[in-house]
Amino acid sequence: MPRSPRPLRKVFVTRAIDPAALAQLRAAAEVEVWPGEMPPPIRQLRGALSHADAVISMVTDKIDAPLIASAPRLRVISNLAVGVDNIDLEAATRAGIAVGHTPGVLTEATADLAFGLLMATARRIAEGDLQVRAGKWRTWGPMTLLGRDVHSATLGIIGFGAIGQAMPRRAIGFGMRVLYLARRSNKPKAGRYGVATAVSLSRLLAEADFVSIHVPLTPETRHMIGAREFSRMKPGAILINTARGPVVDQDAMVAALKSRRLAGAGLDVTDPEPIARRDPLLQLDNVVITPHIGSASIATRGRMAAIAVANVLDVFAGRLPEFCANPRVRLRPTDAASSRPANDR
Ligand code: NAP
Repeated sequence: MPRSPRPLRKVFVTRAIDPAALAQLRAAAEVEVWPGEMPPPIRQLRGALSHADAVISMVTDKIDAPLIASAPRLRVISNLAVGVDNIDLEAATRAGIAVGHTPGVLTEATADLAFGLLMATARRIAEGDLQVRAGKWRTWGPMTLLGRDVHSATLGIIGFGAIGQAMPRRAIGFGMRVLYLARRSNKPKAGRYGVATAVSLSRLLAEADFVSIHVPLTPETRHMIGAREFSRMKPGAILINTARGPVVDQDAMVAALKSRRLAGAGLDVTDPEPIARRDPLLQLDNVVITPHIGSASIATRGRMAAIAVANVLDVFAGRLPEFCANPRVRLRPTDAASSRPANDR
């Protein structure tokens, strides 16, 4: 008897992504795309994942252990981001679900934005723009909107992975001195990396005019920069955070900004996101905030979507995603009839 055709795999995509990538996915699976501008509420997400084989998720989708437990068919969570702090990695691994992500392709775009925030904060670009629009530009002023020099200043990079290492390439053009804090021995931990010199956190904080954060959010890095670290910073330093909001203790940052110990902050990420309308940070004029747009260039988002789709298709083909955040996972079988993990076969 001929075997009945394998039912089409179902993929839930939690927001509209690049159309070319979606078309590729549609050629291989039944695809449902959440149509709203806002993320799907948890009830809808749970409903969709209860019968999905794969989900393409965003940083705004919290995929925790209870949600994972309520998704019996799910085999891959493909996150449209390099960071996977919105996903319970251990719960996914225990359940035999691969977690895909999109490292590499967003490195340069995010470093561009970090450098843009550095420039905007140092030279008070956003403040100047607001003044012009408000009709407050009455004349050239010898003491108007004086900022900090970027050229010849010292940049301190916390977290020397892909994005951290992209920062010195920009800094060199401005004649900056670059210090960095790294961790593992397989990274350029000691000595020099191009123009950059490895230092301890305390030396970095004491010497840097600009401190730029590029670590992932983990239990270890949560509130890595708090009151103690601000008190050790060079007076008048500027903090740039394009990593994740909770890496910085936001209350301590507000206090440091108010006291002017910290001359400014350029933030693409906050805690929470979006930032509360009444958050004290929004009352401060020495802060520039962008709405988590580090990777938001047309070309970069297209590449991220292509990788997110490829990560799903890898799992449908019985292998781990090329870009897998939990490579030790043993993929759960495609259906109840299979008893062995797929990557054992
Ligand atoms: P990556 O290549 O994995 O680099 C992260 C680096 O941080 C690694 O070198 C890692 O060292 C280091 N690190 C981790 N914990 C540390 C600690 N406690 N102390 C010192 N260093 C530590 O990741 P990436 O592509 O550069 O991205 C970094 C983060 O940026 C992502 O996780 C994401 O949260 C954020 N991001 C934000 C945007 C945005 O839109 N704003 C866009 C892209 C990325 P080990 O190798 O030793 O672990």
